[in-house]
This record gives sequence, structure tokens and C-alpha cells, in this order.
Amino acid sequence: MKGGRLEGGIRLPCYHAGMATAPDPRTTHFGYQTVSEDEKAGRVREVFASVARRYDVMNDVMSLGLHRVWKRMAVTLSGVRPGDRVLDVAGGSGDLSRLFRERVGAAGEVLLTDINSDMLRVGRDRMIDAGVPVPAIQCDAERLPFADRRFDCVMVAFGLRNMTHKDLALAEMRRVLKPGGRLLVLEFSQVAAPLKPLYDAYSFRVLPLLGQRIAGDGESYRYLAESIRVHPDQATLRQMMLDAGLGKVDFFNMTAGVVALHRGTRID
Ligand code: SAM
Repeated sequence: MKGGRLEGGIRLPCYHAGMATAPDPRTTHFGYQTVSEDEKAGRVREVFASVARRYDVMNDVMSLGLHRVWKRMAVTLSGVRPGDRVLDVAGGSGDLSRLFRERVGAAGEVLLTDINSDMLRVGRDRMIDAGVPVPAIQCDAERLPFADRRFDCVMVAFGLRNMTHKDLALAEMRRVLKPGGRLLVLEFSQVAAPLKPLYDAYSFRVLPLLGQRIAGDGESYRYLAESIRVHPDQATLRQMMLDAGLGKVDFFNMTAGVVALHRGTRID
């Protein structure tokens, strides 16, 4: 296994997107490009700083509103109950935090987190405007500033794909879960084979044009299309969650695998 890191005495495998082997352990993928790990974090930051203002509109347009259905299904499958503590990792403009806030009620707690201040600001302001303010904390999923065993549920939606060390992020998200708590990963995945030509045409021809028109940034949406193609498929991500120490890991394909929800439980 290449690029493993020592974490709590365990040697963690380092998965490269799409399981292609990067030439050097300190390089990784930014879409189809191979870049240094430091460069990837900076380029991801630029993408989200650039699209933050128009992020929500673009989500609605490019998914024809389907992202709302995927997110609602994820929250339903989370099993979160009134009074629970939920951590929204890479929460961006706060869709998941808002849905979880409705579920946990006044006795519960939801924390909205993201590495990017522009995205977090949009999320925080939206929650305030909706009358459901939640604490907004800027932090890196690979180094979460929370105590062990604090949350009943940790959710990361459309965020893991952008992280440099997905194995570390998964281990961190497991660390902050209570035993019995659930990690949910909602992410673009590998679409069913018959739909692939159509999906590819949409992703590489239409999406960058929409990005240019609506967010003034076609390149960031080209990155989105590429990053989905090099992200681990359903079975690989399931194995990564098992390797991060989660148990009972299952997944649900949505919209023929355009998106998958992975769900794992902290056993000990
Ligand atoms: N979860 C939101 C949603 O579903 O609409 C936002 C998803 S957005 C596509 C991806 C988010 O991941 C961005 O806000 C980005 O800043 C965040 N992100 C990327 N790398 C991160 C990291 N290492 N730690 C925390 N957040 C990260």
C-alpha cells in the first residue's frame, strides 16, 4: 500500500482517486491532473471561493432540483432523532444542517463546518435568514477540532471527493462519533453503464457551459465533472470506510448511481 500514514498506531492505506496510482506519495489528483498535495488544497479552495455566491443556484440548475431529494433521503436514512448531536462536515451552504436542525429539535445540536470561509459565510447567513442559526466552524475534515465520541451522526455531503487524504478524513469522522453513531457519506459515484455516454456528454459539454453562464466559471464545473470520474466507486468507498474502522457499512445508489449514500456505524 502506497502513501500510508501512521495514525494512532494503525497504518492507514492511502487511496488515490479512482485507485489510479499517483507517481509520488505526495502527489494526488485534482480532477484529471496530478498535482502536489499542497497544490490540491489551494486549488480546491479557489474553486469554492469562486462559486460560493452562485453555488446554490447552480446546484438546482445542474441537478434539476434532484440534489434536494438526495439530501432529504440521506437525512431520512441517517436515523437521527430528536435530541441527537450532528456534525455537518464540509457543510458549505448548509442544506444538510438545515434538514438535520428540523430533525433534532430544540434539545439537539447541529454544527455546520467547512474549510472554506466563503462557503461557510453563505451557509451561516442562510441559516440566520431561515431563522435556524447553528454554530458555524471553519475547520479541515482531516483535523477535526472536536473531542472523541461526541456526535450521534456525522454527515459529509459532496465534500469527501475534494479532500486530499480521504482516509484521514474518514478516520477523523469516525473518531468523533459515539459508539453506535453513524457516518453518512453522500457523494457523486459511478453511474450505471448504459447511462454513461449520456452522462458523460452532459458532464463535459453542458455542465461547463452552465457553470460559465450562471457562476461565471466554467473551469470549476469542468473540475467537478473530472473529480467525479476519479473518485472511488461504490465498492471502493465502502472498503475505505471499513478500513477507517467503521462497521456495518452499506450503500444506496440514487438516480442510477449518479449519487451514492454510504452509511457506516462506529462499533467500539
Ligand atoms: N455539503 C454541501 C452540500 O451538499 O451542498 C457543500 C458541498 S460542496 C460541493 C463541497 C464543500 O467541501 C465545499 O464547501 C468545500 O469548501 C468543502 N471542503 C473541501 N475540502 C474540505 C476539507 N478538507 N475539510 C472541510 N471541508 C472541505
